[in-house]
Amino acid sequence: MFDKVLIANRGEIALRIHRACREMGIHTVAVHSTADEDAMHVRLADESVCIGPPSAARSYLNIPAIMAAAEITNADAIHPGYGFLSENAKFAEIVADHGITFIGPTAEHIRLMGDKIAAKDTVRRLGVPCVPGSDGAIDDEAEAARIAAEIGYPVLVKAAAGGGGRGMRVVKEPERLSAEIADARSEARNAFGDDAVYMEKYLSRPRHIEMQIIADAHGNVVHLGERDCSLQRRHQKVVEESPSPALNAREREEIGETVVKAISALGYLGVGTIEFLYEDGAFYFIEMNTRLQVEHPVTEMVTGIDLVREQIRIASGAPLSFTQKDVRFTGHAIECRINAEHPRTFMASPGQVTDYHQPGGLGVRVDSALYSGYRIPPYYDSLIAKLIVHGNTRNECLMRLRRALEEYVIGGITCTIPLLSDLVGNRDFVDGTYDIKWLEEYLSSLD
Ligand code: ADP
Repeated sequence: MFDKVLIANRGEIALRIHRACREMGIHTVAVHSTADEDAMHVRLADESVCIGPPSAARSYLNIPAIMAAAEITNADAIHPGYGFLSENAKFAEIVADHGITFIGPTAEHIRLMGDKIAAKDTVRRLGVPCVPGSDGAIDDEAEAARIAAEIGYPVLVKAAAGGGGRGMRVVKEPERLSAEIADARSEARNAFGDDAVYMEKYLSRPRHIEMQIIADAHGNVVHLGERDCSLQRRHQKVVEESPSPALNAREREEIGETVVKAISALGYLGVGTIEFLYEDGAFYFIEMNTRLQVEHPVTEMVTGIDLVREQIRIASGAPLSFTQKDVRFTGHAIECRINAEHPRTFMASPGQVTDYHQPGGLGVRVDSALYSGYRIPPYYDSLIAKLIVHGNTRNECLMRLRRALEEYVIGGITCTIPLLSDLVGNRDFVDGTYDIKWLEEYLSSLD
């Protein structure tokens, strides 16, 4: 097992990784920008190294600075968390070249799945159902028009290198097609430095359902069920739950078998998420994420499996500590993402947290790096806390979530708790009948 793990991230996920290491008897190294000197993960880690100024490009994305920190502290592994360098194949390669273990899949798998066109092509050949669309990049306008007519409008133009909901354009009619392709291309070029785009049928009212998988270096692959992440704003997840209120046991088993078969054939290593849209009883692959996800606690709560601990074990060469048959899904879990944003306008609201009291009690978990007196810096993602609740039934879970949100005090800043409280009381949410369009429509009905 590793002696020392460097955590190449910040905020709640850096703390989450630190906690897993600590429980495994592994020393931790925190890296941080000058804006994060007082961050909780820096305070708790065994060692810390300042890697640059506030701008992420010069700190958390600064590969030479992070590698220097790993060398100085003699870390034997690096955990990238999510975001930042977690899906950067070049970084995974550099880490390995330095004789340090990258806690994640191989650079080759990161690169393959980072190109959504190649990813789709690969999984389709492994028997995974995909959204109908252009089989590959669009390079010819006449060809694009022909494919769009064939799959039927509306269509969605997507960036091959896309992420975070960027580089996507819905095209409702043929007259708009070439303009929207040009727009998606320039957005993709600016955001990702790659202007390759492809096209998919725009599904009208799907749910977003993703499968968590985990694979070791000995050929064992296990799925840990699904997460329903249909409550989204601007293609970004706001609430996630497991199990999905929309799936039955047979569908869960079938899609589980399909993904395990594909992942085994790929020879994949580590944790991963296969994302699907689900409509009228059918699954359509959209992408695979080759990292730990923000919403992983939902799966941990229903399976009792510590995903970060398993990631670290697998990276060290150990086999999975369970088989598919050992995995038991118990009860229901829901996660709410709490952002330092205005609950209606979504304007960022960084600043000092004057009072802090987090909810507790049976079945309540808070993953957050906040504390009373902490100053939320304005430079990074606005996610400040994840509230995760577990209950024996979905209803118990909803009641618990309602009271946990009531208890939560984050003083001094504006955050999205009021919006989440409204959602938890909403009929459609309680009934579990929402889809990926629901939240946006709900928000505009409030205007
Ligand atoms: P990103 O990597 O930017 O997050 P994804 O491909 O994962 O992009 O898609 C993000 C979200 O965009 C999905 O959860 C869904 O809400 C929406 N979306 C993506 N593809 C489609 C599609 N073909 N039809 C309808 N909505 C889609």
